[in-house]
Amino acid sequence: VNIGIDIGGTAIKGGLVDEKGAIIYTKEIPTQSKEGYGVVLSNIYSLIESLMEIAKTYERKPGFIGLGIPGLADKKSDYVIFCTNLGWNNVPLGIDLKKKFGLPVIIENDATIAGFAESICGLTKNYENSVFLTLGTGIGAGLVINNKIFSGSHGVGSEVGHMIIGENFYNCSCGKNGCFETFASATALIKYVENQINGGRQTILSGVPNIGAKEIFEAAKQGDELAKETISRFIKYLSIGIVNIINIMDPEIIAIGGGMSKGLADILSDIHDEVARLAHYKTLPYGKIVISELGNEAGIIGAAMLS
Ligand SMILES: [Zn+2]
Repeated sequence: VNIGIDIGGTAIKGGLVDEKGAIIYTKEIPTQSKEGYGVVLSNIYSLIESLMEIAKTYERKPGFIGLGIPGLADKKSDYVIFCTNLGWNNVPLGIDLKKKFGLPVIIENDATIAGFAESICGLTKNYENSVFLTLGTGIGAGLVINNKIFSGSHGVGSEVGHMIIGENFYNCSCGKNGCFETFASATALIKYVENQINGGRQTILSGVPNIGAKEIFEAAKQGDELAKETISRFIKYLSIGIVNIINIMDPEIIAIGGGMSKGLADILSDIHDEVARLAHYKTLPYGKIVISELGNEAGIIGAAMLS
């Protein structure tokens, strides 16, 4: 049995997972990210302590602790280098946890872990080369090549959200203009609608207090012109991003997950058509595009299977 921890901006999820990837027990606590690293660390300590207690009742000792973070970790130094959502810069998370629990610790990016989980127990299982795209506030990815997580020579690969694919009317949170995630994330949809409304466009979305991706998809279904235009722009740029990935990596399958993915079922065939239109080798097969079916626990499972 191993411990998997999924650290998010609002909640920390943890679980005991057996060697086959089956969840034995899970627990969730608030992150309290605004309180700073010290408080979040002691929250992680108490979560792991309670998981160790539960493991005892099964008469099993955890083999290692795997953690997913919304940022970047250096596996050699065990430091978390960046974690913007949590306000972390160079924090010794791996060192602190090793000292506290005396167990091996592995820290990975959460999108990478979600992709890994998908390849263990989701739709990309049994495929040697797969891509997991997570669409939410931003865009993250997990690349699996030859059945292994691929994160590049310096651990910073798979940042597909920041592929520059065009010019956009607003800058990315990374400071650059034209990043994939400014065209094809939930934030991108909202920004586009707001920009058009501010420019005087008529839409049924004008009166909606908190416009989100869900409201935009709903308005498009009701025939709202701006919402329909926003969705086709989204399909266009999502397909450009996917085709870029296909051209570089030629995966067997691309699974789309994240907060936005459930809303994509209705437009998946449009995405297929657009990818087919943009495909470089028209007569050759390319990777399947599917929507992930894994739930909330994927981050825990993936983290606990990292060793
Ligand atoms: Zn960017």
